[in-house]
Parts: sequence; C-alpha cells; structure tokens
Amino acid sequence: MEIIYNISNKYDIMDLLSIVVPCYNEEESVEIFLREIQKVLKDRSFEVIFINDGSADDTLKKIKDLADENANVNYISFSRNFGKEAAIYAGLNYAKGDMVCLMDADLQHPPSMLPQMISAIEEENYDVAAARRITRKGEPKIKSFFSHRYYRFFNRISKIEIVEGGTDYRVMTRQVVDAILQLEEYNRFTKGLFQWVGFETKWIEYENVERAAGETTWSFLGLIAYSIEGIVAFSTMPLTLAIIIGTIVSIVAFGYMIFIIAKYLLYSDPVQGFATTMCAILLLGGLQLLFIGTLGKYLEKTYFETKNRPIFIVKETNIKDSD
Ligand code: UDP
Ligand code: MG
Repeated sequence: MEIIYNISNKYDIMDLLSIVVPCYNEEESVEIFLREIQKVLKDRSFEVIFINDGSADDTLKKIKDLADENANVNYISFSRNFGKEAAIYAGLNYAKGDMVCLMDADLQHPPSMLPQMISAIEEENYDVAAARRITRKGEPKIKSFFSHRYYRFFNRISKIEIVEGGTDYRVMTRQVVDAILQLEEYNRFTKGLFQWVGFETKWIEYENVERAAGETTWSFLGLIAYSIEGIVAFSTMPLTLAIIIGTIVSIVAFGYMIFIIAKYLLYSDPVQGFATTMCAILLLGGLQLLFIGTLGKYLEKTYFETKNRPIFIVKETNIKDSD
C-alpha cells in the first residue's frame, strides 16, 4: 500500500481494496470476472482473493493460473465444500485491504457499480456501500412472492432489519470487516450478521443480472432451509410463539372440557363426539410435532456451536501469513 498523506479524506484514494470472491464450480467465470474487475479498477491498487470452496471442476487450476499471471491475485482453497458463508468468512480473514469488497464470481454482481460504491465510502463517508437488487427478472413469480413475505416476517420477529433485495455485494471499511470477524459463530447467516454489526450503509440499487456462466447452487428446498436458518439464527420468536399458542390451546381445551362435563351431567349422552375427538387429536398432535421440531432446530444450532469446529479448513493458499 502506498501511503499518501491527505488529511481532507478519511480514506485516501491509494488505500488498498481487497476483493473477496467465493467460488464453487466457477471454472467458466473466474477469468472473465478478473478481466472485468481489472477494467473497472485500472486506476487503483487492489488485490483479489479467490476462495475455492471445494469445487469439483477446474476452478482451482484456473485461479492458480490467474494468481501466477497477476501479482495482485491470491487464492485460498478449502479441503472440501464449506458453503458460501464460510468462504466469505475465510476471505475476510485473509483480506489485507483498508476496504474490502465481497463479490460473486458469476458476474451477477455488476463490477461497473464498484466506482460508485467506493466513492460512497471515500467521498460520502459511509462505512458500507451495498448493492440492492430491485428487479427479480428471470426469476419465477412464486419465488419473488415468498421472498417478499419472508423479509417482512423476518424483520417483524427479529431485532435486526434485513433489506429486501439486499445482496452480499458490498464494499466495507476495515472497521466493519473487523467487527464481522469478531462474530465467530459456526452457523453463519451472513445477511443477518452484516446488519447485526450496524454501521452506516448506503444501498445502491441495480437490476438483476443473469449468471454469466455455470449454474446456481440454489434449489427451492435449499432456499426454504436457508430461510429457516436465518430465523433460528436471529430470533427466538418461534419459541415464544409455541408458548403463546400452547397457552391459548390449553385455555380453549379447558373451556371445552367444562362444557363436555356439564353436557354429560345435564343430558348424560356418553357416546358422541368421535369427530371432535379425532380433530383434537390430529390438531394437537400436529402442533406438538411442530413445536418439538422448532425446539429441536434451536438445540441443533446450540449443539453445533458448542462443538467449536472451525468454520473452514484451508488445504492450500498462496497467501503468506504475515500478520
Ligand atoms: N458459492 C460458494 N460456495 C457454495 C455455493 C456458492 O462459494 O457452496 C459461491 C458461487 O461460486 C458464487 C456465489 O457463491 O460466486 C453465489 O452463488 P450462486 O451464484 O450459486 O448463488 P445465486 O447467485 O444464485 O444466489
Ligand atoms: Mg449467482
């Protein structure tokens, strides 16, 4: 990093920018990605850190080649697939920049937005500049619908506010990165963690872009599981809900019991109410399973946290541990 003394700006133009790029089976994208970044950032000092998240294709070879050809390109390769959240955490750990940018390898995060994001931090003194997708072009309507509902529900039941359409594409100051690195939890719902640390964020809007190459790793079921992870990681509302619903059901059941006893005493008709019995059993059985499952989900998270396993394991890297 070249140091130029300049007291008028919080961040000087020559500050090093680290670009962290999680890659899972992105052999077709990484090179195009780097070319685009080089084009956009030709006037400033930056490093790129590719994280090979256990790709099954030639991603590692491709990023090694890029690292050989370009002095400012680094790579970290995991021992297996640990997931994007782990890759982000690893990248932030290894990044040396005064500012760090997170970006997908598939060019769905337009590099052309970078100058604007950087200037939001350098000129407007924001701590974070993040991209917000405003259209969901090329996405099924049903997915957008559920996603919209989910954001509203999440924000209602958790103390943090996640922004609809907010992506992981962001530039952060060193201070924000250090704050995120302090959150060493194993279950990493990054969207939530970014909001949890606070700081001033400027949201910059953009239109959805289709993948440059390769395929998305998200399935519909995967997204549902991810949504549940998010709620469990940032809210204990489902547990409170279990108590509230349990209480209401108990009160109603108690009232109904009094009614049945009174009816029996007044009219003594013992063998009626098969339908009622069945309904009660099925409804209560369902509720019980649902809440046991909810409880189990929290227990599962606690279980994995207490194991204290590392978030990722590096097999090889060209980054020397100097700090
Ligand atoms: N990714 C990763 N590990 C995974 C899955 C994805 O590092 O297990 C990377 C992937 O290579 C890409 C980014 O995370 O750079 C976003 O993934 P994807 O494009 O599949 O998600 P989408 O854009 O559909 O949300
Ligand atoms: Mg993508």
